[in-house]
Amino acid sequence: MLKFENVSKVFDGGFQAVKSVSFDIPTGEFLVLIGPSGSGKSTTMKMINRMEPHTSGKITINGKDTNSYNASELRRNIGYVIQQIGLFPHYTIEKNIAIVPQLKGWNDKEIKARVNELLELVGLDPEIYATRYPKELSGGQQQRIGIARALAADPDVILMDEPFSALDPLTREQLQNEFLSLHKKLKKTIVFVTHDMDEALKMGDRIAIMKDGKLLQLDTPEKLLHEPAHGFVEEFIGKHR
Ligand code: ATP
Ligand code: MG
Repeated sequence: MLKFENVSKVFDGGFQAVKSVSFDIPTGEFLVLIGPSGSGKSTTMKMINRMEPHTSGKITINGKDTNSYNASELRRNIGYVIQQIGLFPHYTIEKNIAIVPQLKGWNDKEIKARVNELLELVGLDPEIYATRYPKELSGGQQQRIGIARALAADPDVILMDEPFSALDPLTREQLQNEFLSLHKKLKKTIVFVTHDMDEALKMGDRIAIMKDGKLLQLDTPEKLLHEPAHGFVEEFIGKHR
């Protein structure tokens, strides 16, 4: 369970980007965060792994306050996938995926087996891809590596900030489908940010709608469509109803 209790973020300089947000994400749930640009989605996400420390309130993972972990320990237990993939260009695919397992002190044999397993999981043949470099892969393949890397050390939570938005529509749909079936298999807790309501409705067990740093409604797609709790929510999902 990932829990936010009255969590706020005030940036240096005084701007409040997130305003007393509370929610619970049960273990294994796929939560989508959606809202207009600047509504605080990425900041909310980055507070989970303390890339942006929250300034008040409390965040716990399985009952443990995230502030009680040191930062690197926390980040090893939370996978993170972003739009601009962020693979290290001078590392092979194998090495890119192995970063966190290495930090966790796994031995070479364990790491090799895990890398092969993960490449197969994201649909890439280890024989072909393990020793390639990121620039030798397409955007969609690189994003698959990003997902493999986030899963590498079996994290409790996976954060995904617009992971598919730089991809062409066909590759995007393919990766959505693949990631959904992967999620059904692995049952990780996912927080997934998108701008795209179609993607949110397709992927999310529940959807959280943010505006101006506030959480307006967090519900199942069904409930949001039929019982919007707020005029803005109704407007935001308007064309999908
Ligand atoms: P987008 O959809 O464009 O990615 P978002 O919902 O992810 O938007 P955030 O990146 O969380 O939005 O930003 C929320 C607000 O906080 C914005 O108004 C932004 O300008 C502000 N903000 C973000 N980072 C900082 C910072 N380091 N210092 C000050 N303000 C910031
Ligand atoms: Mg963002």
